[in-house]
Amino acid sequence: MSCLICAGTAENILAGGEFEERDCPSCGRYRISCALVLMLMEQGQIFDVHRMRVWLAAKREFVDVPSIEIHEALLVL
Ligand SMILES: [Zn+2]
Repeated sequence: MSCLICAGTAENILAGGEFEERDCPSCGRYRISCALVLMLMEQGQIFDVHRMRVWLAAKREFVDVPSIEIHEALLVL
């Protein structure tokens, strides 16, 4: 499986429910809502990799595995 943020090689972790989970050597471990993954695929949008990694790093001060919801996605405009 590939990282949903940077498209590099990442480990797919079974999260279940409404989220996909990945462990990427570059982006770290994170969850991403299935609705967001669908939206990205349908609209052909991609993450702003740098800003998303900064966002994840900030979230990791509070939680081990940050979850990215639709309204939190930082996309390339
Ligand atoms: Zn990545």
